[in-house]
Amino acid sequence: MFDLVIRNATLPDGRQGQDIAVSADTIIAVEPGIDAEAGRVIDAGGLLVSPPFVDPHFHMDATLSLGLPRMNVSGTLLEGIALWGELRPTLTVDALVERAVRYCDLAVSKGLLAIRSHVDVSDPALVTVEAMLEVRRQVAPYLDLQLVAFPQDGYYRGPGIVEALERALDMGVEIVGGIPHFERTMGEGTASVEALCRIAADRGLRVDMHCDETDDPLSRHVETLAAQTIRFGLQGRVAGSHLTSMHSMDNYYVSKLLPLIAEAQMAAIPNPLINMMLQGRHDTYPKRRGLTRIPQMMEMGITVGLGQDCVMDPWYSMGTGDLLDVAHMAVHATQMGSMADKRALFDAVTVNSARIMGLEGYGLDVGCKADMVLLQARDPAEAIRLRPNRLAVIRRGRVVAETAPETSRLALDGRPQVVNPAEYAPRHGI
Ligand SMILES: [Zn+2]
Repeated sequence: MFDLVIRNATLPDGRQGQDIAVSADTIIAVEPGIDAEAGRVIDAGGLLVSPPFVDPHFHMDATLSLGLPRMNVSGTLLEGIALWGELRPTLTVDALVERAVRYCDLAVSKGLLAIRSHVDVSDPALVTVEAMLEVRRQVAPYLDLQLVAFPQDGYYRGPGIVEALERALDMGVEIVGGIPHFERTMGEGTASVEALCRIAADRGLRVDMHCDETDDPLSRHVETLAAQTIRFGLQGRVAGSHLTSMHSMDNYYVSKLLPLIAEAQMAAIPNPLINMMLQGRHDTYPKRRGLTRIPQMMEMGITVGLGQDCVMDPWYSMGTGDLLDVAHMAVHATQMGSMADKRALFDAVTVNSARIMGLEGYGLDVGCKADMVLLQARDPAEAIRLRPNRLAVIRRGRVVAETAPETSRLALDGRPQVVNPAEYAPRHGI
């Protein structure tokens, strides 16, 4: 007798007709034709069951603050940072917690069950840190939230930020952040990368820096981050977020840089939605896309996870909490349109990001935690194309969100009465 059995699922690796049996919070069996009683049975009807979506780059302290205290008129990163600076003194723990927990409701409904959030530590009062620690505690039963100590204003640019970052780590924030391209000079950016990697090494923590989020091809802090990763023995524990300057770098330089990133076992976290919006702002025409070199990195064996960065905040007025929106944009912006490309980008919003976050028991193997999502789509490529309804979201063996399938009624003579968007992909030649 199992607590839950999902019947006739297609898995992201292409296996079809699989049953998934769950006892308590753990996957006990994954095979066709499991013949046993269960407390609850879900018929997947041949649709895709995936491990949950993972967002490795987010700003939970800013989410849903769109319009406070005013809108970002230019739409630029710099006005966003200035606007956040205006909003920050007015923030309260209660309002921050309320917005963040409300956002997590939306995330869960989209099958997004793990988030790494940067938390601004630029104001030494650390109201943001206090609030996000409370959010992490409140959502823990249904969502894994990791926190990064992030000096938004620059590690060396404001009074008390160096001390505030260490204090945030003392309070329970578990990852060291940074923003070297926003320090006053290239030299101070370099020094910040070294100092922050040293803190991570001393404390045994991971590193995730906003790195080179600029169109300046000479913003090369990614090189320093990779080198310091190796120097401090942090291989496999460091991620570079954004890395958009790599879009504009000289190809010869990149041919040396990519192997260094791979040697450092550094992960990359591009954020296609926000960076398609923010980059290329100083260009006239042609305008650069400004997204980092995702296919080249994947070819080098570098782990790439895709993040949202922002949902309805001073930097980005869009966003839905759906990592498939992110993958959908990545397909277009990187021209990764083959079936293999789309499968790789589906991995980038699931398993790759789970690896970057170091999530334990993630996946659909026997012994993994029973966290999964049933989608109204046949396979990962279709999931990205359709961004379909999440029919069931399961956390530790319990259904925590359900959405009815999307169908439309047609009133056309001689045509079908019902349209199900998941049934339209041609099956031939794939
Ligand atoms: Zn960010």
